[in-house]
Amino acid sequence: MNRKSFIKLLTLTPFIGKTMNINVFENAFGNKITSEKMPLLFVGHGNPMYAISENKYRTVWQEIGNKLPPPKAILCISAHWLTKGTAVTMVPKPKTIHDFGGFPKELFDVQYPAPGAVDYAKMAIQAVQSIPVHEDFEWGLDHGAWSVLMNMYPKANVPIFQMSIDYAQSPLYHFNLAKELASLRSKGVLIVCSGNVVHNLGQIKWNKDDKPFDWAIDFDNLVKKSIEENNPIPLIEYQKLGALATLAHPTNDHYLPLMYSLGLRDKTDSFQFFNDSLDMGSLSMRSVIFS
Ligand code: ZN
Repeated sequence: MNRKSFIKLLTLTPFIGKTMNINVFENAFGNKITSEKMPLLFVGHGNPMYAISENKYRTVWQEIGNKLPPPKAILCISAHWLTKGTAVTMVPKPKTIHDFGGFPKELFDVQYPAPGAVDYAKMAIQAVQSIPVHEDFEWGLDHGAWSVLMNMYPKANVPIFQMSIDYAQSPLYHFNLAKELASLRSKGVLIVCSGNVVHNLGQIKWNKDDKPFDWAIDFDNLVKKSIEENNPIPLIEYQKLGALATLAHPTNDHYLPLMYSLGLRDKTDSFQFFNDSLDMGSLSMRSVIFS
């Protein structure tokens, strides 16, 4: 950690968010959310089949899409686009990328023909001053993006661009980088960070009745507590947890999108968890909306 980053981290003021009723999602938003500053989402995407199968997570994604103010564009930061350096997609018609194997043909047949958001991608490039953000003309929408967004916006009528995750960088780096994107929220951009707060595919339990691992429960609770207390430091420094950290995230590709949502969180935001259950023993679908 360099000195500047460390000081930036120290100046974070803890803030206790206004907790909405987390049990009744249907009543969560009412007319409260306006389009003055778009909400911010961290979404656990989990099993790619959740995009099209009957499941409780997908139902909530659909509800959220109905209840949020219509975005002018969506920026998705997905666990499935890892690069050297940082890039944004500059394509007018992003292709649907089927970046997985071993799933049924119906999942490979999914197309999500949402338009690109080139003008908004340029805004993101301009907003980030600390590093060069590269223009990308190859990527489209990976399943971390489309599995959720095709359910939130089934008409595929909201322009979308993705920003990649520089996989060589630390959680703190991503947390700080996210802050530079904050102005997009007041320009009508819905930022969707897509990963999982616990993600260990090697330990998945296939029997539906199997209970989650204790370490999965513990790490999920840590995330919950840190968000409730608006104290991101334990999450930024999660590697200090040793075995708990490596069990929850043998690799941290699905964890880093959370850093973007924590960095983008505004001190005036309230928050609400949704889809907050552990899945297949070693995945957490815990998601959160800041608004
Ligand atoms: Zn994934």
